[in-house]
Amino acid sequence: MLDTIVKNAMIPQGDELVKANILVEDGKIVGITRKEFEARNVIDAEGNMVLPGCIDSHTHFMDPGFTHRETFTTGCRAAAYGGITTVIDMPCCSVPSVRGVPEMEHKLEAIKPQALIDFALWGGVTGEDVREEKHFRIVREQAEAGVVAFKVYMTPSVPSYPRVTDPEMLETFKAVAETGLPVGIHAENFAMTDFYTQKFIREGRLDAPAWAEARSILAEKVAIELGISFAEEVGARLHIVHMSTGIGARLVGEAKMRGLDVTSETCPHYLVLNYKDAMSEYGAFAKIAPPLRTEEDNEILWEGLQNGSVDFIATDHAPYEIATEKAKQGMTIWTAFPGIPGVETMVPILVSEGYNKGRLTLSQLVDVLSRNAAIHYGLYPKKGAMFIGSDADFTVIDLDREWIINKEDQQSMAKYTPLHGMKLKGKVVKTIVRGKVVFDEKKGIMVNPGYGQFVKRQTISKLDKVIRFPSINDIF
Ligand SMILES: [Zn+2]
Repeated sequence: MLDTIVKNAMIPQGDELVKANILVEDGKIVGITRKEFEARNVIDAEGNMVLPGCIDSHTHFMDPGFTHRETFTTGCRAAAYGGITTVIDMPCCSVPSVRGVPEMEHKLEAIKPQALIDFALWGGVTGEDVREEKHFRIVREQAEAGVVAFKVYMTPSVPSYPRVTDPEMLETFKAVAETGLPVGIHAENFAMTDFYTQKFIREGRLDAPAWAEARSILAEKVAIELGISFAEEVGARLHIVHMSTGIGARLVGEAKMRGLDVTSETCPHYLVLNYKDAMSEYGAFAKIAPPLRTEEDNEILWEGLQNGSVDFIATDHAPYEIATEKAKQGMTIWTAFPGIPGVETMVPILVSEGYNKGRLTLSQLVDVLSRNAAIHYGLYPKKGAMFIGSDADFTVIDLDREWIINKEDQQSMAKYTPLHGMKLKGKVVKTIVRGKVVFDEKKGIMVNPGYGQFVKRQTISKLDKVIRFPSINDIF
């Protein structure tokens, strides 16, 4: 008898939803059919939309080392509640930070027993590694160990993960280019953000929007321009992480038109919030780097998701402890830690504000939530697809359900969000990983810590080199 059937699923076929039953054996899709099958496990999707498992390719789950903020288990819980089946965790927010295979193995030892959903890892390389002339070696070794990309910071972040100067960034690009993997940059010009931050502090500004004004749109623009120049020079695959500006989307679009391998992601908060409103209302709870921007930026980034200059969506989930890191006595907008949680709200926001409001077609929704990140990071078509042989990872969404984001209800240890109070239409009702229900809205989390698996890079692939699989209608 068949292992598992996901029945009454409305699955995406181009821009149409088609009713089907998905057959699962050993955690993989073995058939998609209109016929009825007996199975030991029956998962009823109840006519809801079933997407290929959604991927958050940019998380900081803080483990090991910063577990007063989040543990890998609480991060996975929040992600599963939010319909995420795979996360790709960043190298910087752990002790030690990941800047080589030994640190990567240390992290894996800590997080593997805690994982509820599948996960891959970003590799790390810093300015200090370049100064010590070991960047080529550590990049090569981490690539061989299965990381999917490398992260570089142009501005200071975690003290144990030093930023790069401009020439150090060029050096990291050369090292990563040799591996064929993407290099993701935190794109803000350090000299500019630092100068205006010091200036505003001297002038005594303590209003929350000052944080955003000190880190200007121009500072992101020139950082992206430099990144593109360097990538073109050395043939690196450049990825702009958490891109916040409309001008950024235009620059990435132009670089693509010139044939460069430049990609970008944006985050839900850069699509639906602007700095003036959100920072005035939520203060440090809306403090992130890069900062929230303007309504005009929101709209251009939506256009970017439509026209492909923004390749996919990710959260930059970075929770902090309210009592000590966000709202400690005497803390100002300058000293509170920058970061917000996001894994739980990414999919619902894209469904509600993107698909349900007509900004994204169904195929665009699938591309930006699942397919494109899987391709970009070499996890495709194991992840990010509903092919025969793909992992049976699904995000089940009730498209009509109306609900309101409540900071207190979040599964993340961070009980704050500048999205608090936002009304949405569309809710995650089940999250399925390799054929098992990990989250069910009526029952909560259904697997034990350790169920989630470490996924290594499968192939080095490029977005434009992948040909769409024939329609599933051919398989019926
Ligand atoms: Zn980040």
